[in-house]
Amino acid sequence: MLTVISHGDVTRLRCSSRMSRAMNYEVSAYLVRGVLVDTGFPAMGGDLSAWLAGVRPEGALVTHHHEDHAGNVGRLAALGVPVGLAPLTLERIVHPEPIGWYRRLCWGSARPLAVQPAPYEHPALTLIHTPGHSADHHVVWDAERETVFGGDLFLGVKVRIAHPGEDIRGQVAVLRRVAALAPRRFFDAHRGAIERPVEMLLAKAQWIEEVVGRIERRAAEGWTARAIEAEVLGAGDFTGLISRGDYAKRNIVESVLAGIGRGVSDAGKSTNATAAQ
Ligand SMILES: [Zn+2]
Repeated sequence: MLTVISHGDVTRLRCSSRMSRAMNYEVSAYLVRGVLVDTGFPAMGGDLSAWLAGVRPEGALVTHHHEDHAGNVGRLAALGVPVGLAPLTLERIVHPEPIGWYRRLCWGSARPLAVQPAPYEHPALTLIHTPGHSADHHVVWDAERETVFGGDLFLGVKVRIAHPGEDIRGQVAVLRRVAALAPRRFFDAHRGAIERPVEMLLAKAQWIEEVVGRIERRAAEGWTARAIEAEVLGAGDFTGLISRGDYAKRNIVESVLAGIGRGVSDAGKSTNATAAQ
């Protein structure tokens, strides 16, 4: 299902499927200056094609390779719409990482790229590298209109689950860098328009710093990853459990522990392992 919402010069495309709604997920792409920012997920490709038949964007920009953002790059390429994206994003679309059942069920699996998209740039829309959520994550910055299309940079102030491999510490610097642009408007890929974006971005950076500090202190005291997780992020992790770790609290703890030389293999082991460091 594709719901079109107007924000004046920005059109929000709220994308969901029966399955994604049942799992309480949706994602948004945006149309601005005739350019599509992100492309939705594979399972709603038919809805996107129907919309594209009426509104043909001159190009598309993609924030990162995750299937709910880059899921229809192949469809756009087949229609001859050029796509601007980082080399690493294209690499990960061409050679997709295996994803868990939870993500496949929610978003669907992209077909292999039959046609490589032609490159695309827009003079007023800049892709800014903001790694953290993923190594290839970018935001789209419209300096003239003081507007950020944030992809998955924000999502919320206190986000207690993450993908494996996210760089939690790294997110602090990029959140502050984007806040320093002083955006007047910020469009999040899941939450839509964010009120008071600079304040929200800085609040998220501060919250992450506090969480990282608490995890580091417990780790220095020899706590196991499991105990740190329960103490810092709260007990229980339903999403982590059913996604088999794909969207899990544990990934936040492991990202921080990896940064202080306590690898993933230490997670949840007895204090013997900690003592052997
Ligand atoms: Zn993502």
